[in-house]
Amino acid sequence: MTARVLDGTKIRDQVFSELSAVVQRMAAEGIRPGLAAVLVGENPASQLYVKSKIAACEQIGLASWMYTPPASITTDELLHLVKDLNNDDAVDGILIQLPLPPQVDAKRILEAVDPAKDVDGFHPVNLGRLVSGRPGLVACTPAGCMEILRRADIKIEGANAVVLGRSDIVGKPMALLLMHANATVTICHSKTRDLPDVVRRADIVAAAMGKAGYVAADWIRTGAAVIDVGTNRVTDAKEAERLLRNFPARLEKFRAKGSALVGDVHPDAVNTAGALTPVPGGVGPMTIAMLMSNTVKAARLRRGKIENHIAPSVAGAR
Ligand code: NAP
Repeated sequence: MTARVLDGTKIRDQVFSELSAVVQRMAAEGIRPGLAAVLVGENPASQLYVKSKIAACEQIGLASWMYTPPASITTDELLHLVKDLNNDDAVDGILIQLPLPPQVDAKRILEAVDPAKDVDGFHPVNLGRLVSGRPGLVACTPAGCMEILRRADIKIEGANAVVLGRSDIVGKPMALLLMHANATVTICHSKTRDLPDVVRRADIVAAAMGKAGYVAADWIRTGAAVIDVGTNRVTDAKEAERLLRNFPARLEKFRAKGSALVGDVHPDAVNTAGALTPVPGGVGPMTIAMLMSNTVKAARLRRGKIENHIAPSVAGAR
């Protein structure tokens, strides 16, 4: 069996075009949703992420602002900036790019963001709302995974779903979203016994461990849907050989470049799964799509324009 590849880039483009239409309708009402991104210091990976988020705003017609305080900023100074953004009515979404420098109390900063503008869905108020099935803003990566499953018409209700990983930003919200969509959910972590057997029972596998190709192809039940959140940069030649031996073109690319991006699920799972998200080009692009969706949603919610719902689909578009 060769899996259907769930193309996150294509779905992101669909989401962007739906959001652009919503943004145009909002412009006619005199509303322009806006995202403020706070990028502390000069971490090159963070700079790249924020740049692509700002570019996405421009693409769909959102206003955006970038704040770049120095790496030496204190917790109090950053709290002051967050307070200003909370009070600025033009700002609908606030994004604090992580990681923050070690002297900054990241928890305090994230908790200072107004939950109504918390487009990353990291605030405990939004997490709590998700737990209890109340309306709120949901973390972008798991929201993106759900959007992929829905748009690929993968049956969630009644499915056995196994989530690998229990982080606050991916594993836990993913498990809750699947549960609210009526899947029977098992959450696995580093202390789980007999992991291969647990995964073999899954109709849907969502892997968010951060371990390159850890989930072997023969753990995947024939025909299962695999959502691979893992984004691991492999630089070791032996490891690349283990993961990409059946993908000569990718192996060739690795040799030329010296690195390759690989998910948590072994790429050979393409021969056992029924559907699977590639890495790169699966979940990654959807995270930005959901950030845009959350910003538009926050703008509409703050103005009483839409009813929110736990299973986040594109803001107001459907
Ligand atoms: P994290 O905070 O490090 O959490 C990893 C989780 O995996 C933990 O719950 C850990 O269990 C579990 N785990 C580790 N080894 C395991 C094992 N051998 N068996 C079973 N479970 C194991 O990571 P994260 O922030 O959730 O990110 C996970 C992955 O997703 C990373 O590769 C990250 O780069 C990627 N990611 C991608 C996107 C995207 O947009 N594509 C966004 C976010 C994250 P314990 O709790 O027991 O330690």
